[in-house]
Amino acid sequence: TERILSRLKKLPAVTRDGQRIGMLVNLELPRELDMALAAGAEGVGLLRSEFLYMNRVDLPSEDEQVEAYRAIVEGMEGRPVTIRTLDVGGDKLAPSLRDRLGDTANPALGLRAIRLGLQERPLLEAQIAAILRTSAFGPVRILLPMISSLSEVKQVREIVLQVAKRLKRRGIKMADPLPPVGVMIEVPGAALAADALAQVSDFFAVGSNDLTQYTLAIDRGEEQVAHLYNPLHPAVLRLIQFATEAALRARIPISVCGEIAGDPKFVPLLLGLGIQDLSMAPVNLPRVKQRIRNIDYLAATRCARLIMDQWDTGRIAMLLDDFNALAV
Ligand code: PEP
Ligand code: MG
Repeated sequence: TERILSRLKKLPAVTRDGQRIGMLVNLELPRELDMALAAGAEGVGLLRSEFLYMNRVDLPSEDEQVEAYRAIVEGMEGRPVTIRTLDVGGDKLAPSLRDRLGDTANPALGLRAIRLGLQERPLLEAQIAAILRTSAFGPVRILLPMISSLSEVKQVREIVLQVAKRLKRRGIKMADPLPPVGVMIEVPGAALAADALAQVSDFFAVGSNDLTQYTLAIDRGEEQVAHLYNPLHPAVLRLIQFATEAALRARIPISVCGEIAGDPKFVPLLLGLGIQDLSMAPVNLPRVKQRIRNIDYLAATRCARLIMDQWDTGRIAMLLDDFNALAV
């Protein structure tokens, strides 16, 4: 298998009929970088910046953040690195922010992710400053978690401009033009407003984990309802389709970075819906690439069309299984 993997690493992720797919990775910890490179990652589609805030009682300084991001950006040697601003609250905890997050009955619907950043401005500004400073060392993109409205994106964009101006006055080098600012599509309202969000976003990243949780009102970590959690639910698929079409119309890139992007089973469906970039845990990259290289893009498009006509989750799963059994 070692030989097969190293051979696969050098081969492009291209379907049998020539459709090229971008293979990106999700990183939770800097030390996963080596594995990502060994797997042949073409960029980081999602850097979960939470690692900087976990297992400690104080907040990371701006300099410390720059150091951590810079190591990853330099390690990727010119490939783009998408840094997501802090996504704590909900199922993700940070001891230093516990007081500010408070105790709440519905943490997943509460002060989380970008909501926290917009409330605790210095926190978000320090992170934006760190990302902008990192942009001097290689291509970076800024990704905003749990966006649910246009105004949130506009506010962050304004902060990016202000922070950039401040850094410039201090003579600090940054990318010019400034890094792209994109949003996670992981709240149903954001998916439904994708046309409008595309006007203020440079790219989309579909967070199918949270999109499934919020669309179906099923806690992603709750065992008692785990059997009901299914990204193949037609409502979830329709939201992904809606956002994808909006992105394609607006000519902005859209990737999927939830768990489904790292499962070969979903490849025909996501490609068939028009997704051209997949971001996944490094360990999943080889088998997803292998799956892409074995399928026919046109057939995947037909499979997706057939699936999008269905209203029964079980039937959708069966159609996808049939397609995968046929084409392997
Ligand atoms: C998602 O929600 O699908 C996602 C990629 O983000 P996270 O899993 O970090 O919430
Ligand atoms: Mg998420």
